[in-house]
Amino acid sequence: MKRFNRNIIFFGVDGQRILRESVVAVVGCGGLGHHVIQQLAYLGVKKIIAIDDEVLSLTNKNRYVLAYDDDPITGFHKVDLIKRSVYMIDPSIEVETVHASLRSAKAIVALKQADVIFGCLDDDGPRFILNEFALAYDKELFDLASDTDNEGMLIYGGRMVYVRPDEPGCLVCMDVLNMNVVTKFLSSENGRRDREDLYGVDKTQLEEGGPSVVSLNGIIASLAVMEYMLQATGIRKAKKKLEYRGNMGIVAVKNEINIDDCHYCKNVRGVADATNLERYL
Ligand SMILES: [Zn+2]
Repeated sequence: MKRFNRNIIFFGVDGQRILRESVVAVVGCGGLGHHVIQQLAYLGVKKIIAIDDEVLSLTNKNRYVLAYDDDPITGFHKVDLIKRSVYMIDPSIEVETVHASLRSAKAIVALKQADVIFGCLDDDGPRFILNEFALAYDKELFDLASDTDNEGMLIYGGRMVYVRPDEPGCLVCMDVLNMNVVTKFLSSENGRRDREDLYGVDKTQLEEGGPSVVSLNGIIASLAVMEYMLQATGIRKAKKKLEYRGNMGIVAVKNEINIDDCHYCKNVRGVADATNLERYL
């Protein structure tokens, strides 16, 4: 435990023990996920479940803090990179890798083991499924998103939203999802994202995705991991929503949410397998 002495000065031996017993799943091992996993490893959680179906590419290397220059870009599974890097930080942390989409039985089975889930996804379709999963199985969910407008970079920032099992408020009723994108995702044959819709620009102009930088991802990830750490160690309750408005240089807090009769909060919460996530797979 000596390596955690400086953590323990912050949140106590009991806080460190709680983290050391925590199983945390990270869905999406991209720019946000790298920061989140790096910080979870340094905090000293028990186990990290990394879920992602993609491979590393050259343009990931401007922001993936766990990737190195000589990491191969031909078929290197992003989840294997995570396993390697967590081992280098702290080999006592267990890492389970799931090289599969969230829309797979493998991912759903793995997520059921988690105490806490970090959603580090690029788009709202899988976020919607993850929200339903977290509600149905009473999991804590920290959902992260970084946002840029692509129109001269007038608006840029991001947010983290915390969905907790013991209080109303989810990604649907907190109004953070674009339901048109969700509907299209759910109706598509294999759930592949349509980048033209996502980013509002011709996808042929983009090698892979819109603007994404290490510092913006780092802020959003740090906001979420900080709230997780404070909540888990009992220092204070995590905020429901923190929004970083980079163009203004501020973080806005939203803790009171007006929820009108949310179907998901009311009817899906706690129903476990009865929610039938298989319909999305
Ligand atoms: Zn809700």
